[in-house]
Amino acid sequence: MRTEEYLDPEIETMKPGDLRPVQEAKLAKQLDYLVARSPFYRDKFAAAGVRREDFRSLNDLARFPFTTKEELRESQQACPPLGRHMAADMIDVIRLHASTGTTGVPSFVGVTRKDAEIWTKVTARSFYTMGIRPNDIVIHAASLTMFAGGLPVKDAIEWIGATFVPVGTGASEKLVLYAKALHPSALHCTPSYAIYLADYVRRQAGMDPRELGFKKFVCGGEPGAGIPAVRAKISQEWGARVTEGLGSADMVPVIFSECPDQSGMHYNAQEYVYNEIIDPESGEVLPIETGVSGELVYTSLERECVPLFRFRTRDRVNILGTSCKCGRTSYKLRCVGRTDDMLIVLGVNVFPSAVRDIVSSFYPAMTGEVQILLDQPGPGVKPPLQVVAEYGNGNQDQAMLQKKVEDKIRAVLSVSAAVQLVPAGTLPRFEMKGKLIRKIYEE
Ligand SMILES: [Zn+2]
Repeated sequence: MRTEEYLDPEIETMKPGDLRPVQEAKLAKQLDYLVARSPFYRDKFAAAGVRREDFRSLNDLARFPFTTKEELRESQQACPPLGRHMAADMIDVIRLHASTGTTGVPSFVGVTRKDAEIWTKVTARSFYTMGIRPNDIVIHAASLTMFAGGLPVKDAIEWIGATFVPVGTGASEKLVLYAKALHPSALHCTPSYAIYLADYVRRQAGMDPRELGFKKFVCGGEPGAGIPAVRAKISQEWGARVTEGLGSADMVPVIFSECPDQSGMHYNAQEYVYNEIIDPESGEVLPIETGVSGELVYTSLERECVPLFRFRTRDRVNILGTSCKCGRTSYKLRCVGRTDDMLIVLGVNVFPSAVRDIVSSFYPAMTGEVQILLDQPGPGVKPPLQVVAEYGNGNQDQAMLQKKVEDKIRAVLSVSAAVQLVPAGTLPRFEMKGKLIRKIYEE
């Protein structure tokens, strides 16, 4: 059954109580598979003193150890190409993706045919939730090469039946050309690029961005599209509705996405990925309830190539709701940053994206482009926090504006900041992801 509202109505409107036994049965099977096929998890469970038999229900999950990105990286270096956590035979692997992360060493992820089908199904469900329909023409302004948000998104958009236009990155001139010719309705890109492109269209093409006619911006790749000021800016510039998605190259490319109610991202991988929210310091499992904040943890329920068990994403999320006007029964969250991006100023946790959020709220007096300067490695930062921010084009008293921004940062985040104002266009524009931190000590 396919209705206008949902791609998979049975799953998307299922009572959470009915979903739990489905997840439990799948996880039990996944554990059998792991113990049989993954030397990485056999050793890991043995080291933690847990056995397969210790899992009888989802309540037992917390007895099992977490998996970290560092462990996966080490596993891969010790046993290339995919690591000791690979649980399928290479002959069954049909595609590889890679991410480089901060270390510069590529980290590979593989999918079997069945894994790829599940990726397509969940990612399609996520894009459908964001409002993509068969009659949409979607310009993909993200990478199509190794990036997990590339080819799997193509498969998902095609699965819905919409038209996928693979423009890629670093092609703003072509994008404008194609948009003029094709009248596309939707653009898939990072929020940074949505802002960059509006600026580009205005300055280079001499057009109002609205003239290109995009009605839906489906954003992902970094937090931002959910920040009210950033969302308002993209929406105003383009005259379009902005929704965002979140996923993980290690799990499924897009697992969470926002419905047209724009009140947080729904969990869309119900029968394929089990989620926990934990306290990032203690590892304690927190209840999935409105108002809870913590780190997102994923467990594969049906993965062949590289199944992961209690994988710590380092994504810091807030739970925004457990019901929705759209009728979907899955909970909703917002990603507020990466736990490893977090700075600590005199004991106060500060996410760089929160600083950008505050500066963006002064738009159009400020462009919203901002950079935090670090003169020594974080997360500890000596106050005041050094912030460089661009002022907009209006005529305003700069000393006054600077003070207003500093005051608002202090009021909202409880940290003192020294804001240096620079003219619009001074800070480097990154087409892919905004670079919010500049590490002076590395230069
Ligand atoms: Zn909803």
